[in-house]
Amino acid sequence: MKTIIEPFKIKMVEPIQLTTMEQRDTLIRNAHYNPFLLSAEDVIIDLLTDSGTSAMSANAWGAMMRGDESYAGARSWYRFRDTVKDIFGFEQIMPTHQGRAAERILFSVMVNPDSIVPNNTHFDTTRANIEYAGGAALDIPCAEADDLDSDFPFKGNIDLDALKKLVAKEGPEHIPLIMVTVTNNSGGGQPVSMANIRSISRIAKDAGIPFYIDACRFAENAHFIKRREPGYENTPTIDIAREMFSYADGCTMSAKKDAFANIGGFLCTNDAGLAQQERNLLILTEGFPTYGGLAGRDLDAIAVGLREILDEDYLDYRLTSTRYVVQHLRSAGVPVVAPAGGHAVYLDARRFLPHIEPLQYPGQSLSVELYREAGIRGVEIGSVMAGADPRTGEERPARLELVRLAIPRRVYTQSHMDYVLEGINLVWQRRDGIRGMRIEKAPKFLRHFTAEFEWI
Ligand SMILES: *Cc1c(COP(=O)(O)O)cnc(C)c1O
Repeated sequence: MKTIIEPFKIKMVEPIQLTTMEQRDTLIRNAHYNPFLLSAEDVIIDLLTDSGTSAMSANAWGAMMRGDESYAGARSWYRFRDTVKDIFGFEQIMPTHQGRAAERILFSVMVNPDSIVPNNTHFDTTRANIEYAGGAALDIPCAEADDLDSDFPFKGNIDLDALKKLVAKEGPEHIPLIMVTVTNNSGGGQPVSMANIRSISRIAKDAGIPFYIDACRFAENAHFIKRREPGYENTPTIDIAREMFSYADGCTMSAKKDAFANIGGFLCTNDAGLAQQERNLLILTEGFPTYGGLAGRDLDAIAVGLREILDEDYLDYRLTSTRYVVQHLRSAGVPVVAPAGGHAVYLDARRFLPHIEPLQYPGQSLSVELYREAGIRGVEIGSVMAGADPRTGEERPARLELVRLAIPRRVYTQSHMDYVLEGINLVWQRRDGIRGMRIEKAPKFLRHFTAEFEWI
């Protein structure tokens, strides 16, 4: 059989409200041309994020009913802890309400104003939390990541030479930790190879620097390793995940990604002393260490989701359905990041709209036009998201100008994706007439969430 079907059937549906282009013109203008400021009900296909938007299974909903809401030592906590321990393998496990809470706690303890934290590419909240702690967040993606067209299988890799040079120059005094993000969300959703993870770990160990994994899409990364890295073809994906984490000293995780949950996250470490300091902060802002800002039922949903996400039929379907969209766009000539990543399709706005300067935000223009044309909501990952330097206030053009169309897990069917392809193609046909944008109003941190725009 050629067709890879969605390996689930639909038991409950949410209606989609259809709108006309004329209605959407008004709606996006009233949202100050920032898709984050639209009402969800005015969106036809919502590809803003794959975060917290997954469809939970009958099993996960069932587990929520078993949730134990005891304040301390709830049964839900032990089910959550044992599952995380089994897959991630770390000694110390702290639940948090989201991934960014894990980041804030980690960096509050480890980062100071002299710190540099390297990563393949920091996610926006990771970067902002490091900068908020006074440190510098440094991106050192591999050179292959620059060629958006090449089919290099592991464009999420870190540049090992750059990492070695940085470690030799700055040492553990200035590098409190080395991170790698799997898959590399801000760098096109590209996976990191096991070989790269192993090498980062060796460099970190030799220098006495802790190594952390931003684990949000660990299952997709592990499955890419199975499908693309020689030697792993016959290894169960769960064992690949375990091996990935065996090289690290800790991780941050958003359960809103590869745990199918609508909320939640966690922070792990093997360092008991560090965990003690982190738990003090956890209690201060998240909650008691056995629930960390979550309800017992959330912990149970995560425990079930972490097992389901490693189902290889699901992961085959997941990677195939993303590749389906990318292949169709490529054959229509639309510039996209290749090869297909796991959770999202990335349009290359710089090549889609070459007549728009980086600081006139081609990605923002493109995301607005996708909404106007077809009610599709995506997000700019470019100079708007990169933000201004918090120290100087100076604007910095981003390395890439992308529009991310993130695909919620188990939510949309193939005909939804065919509709998305049609919408993108219609914008592609009339690309020459699309103008750039300017920012009318923006906050200091994470400005892309609330900034207001106007056409130039
Ligand atoms: C989503 C995400 C985070 C932050 O997690 P939240 O749950 O949204 O706070 C951190 N890193 C990466 C790579 C992510 O995709």
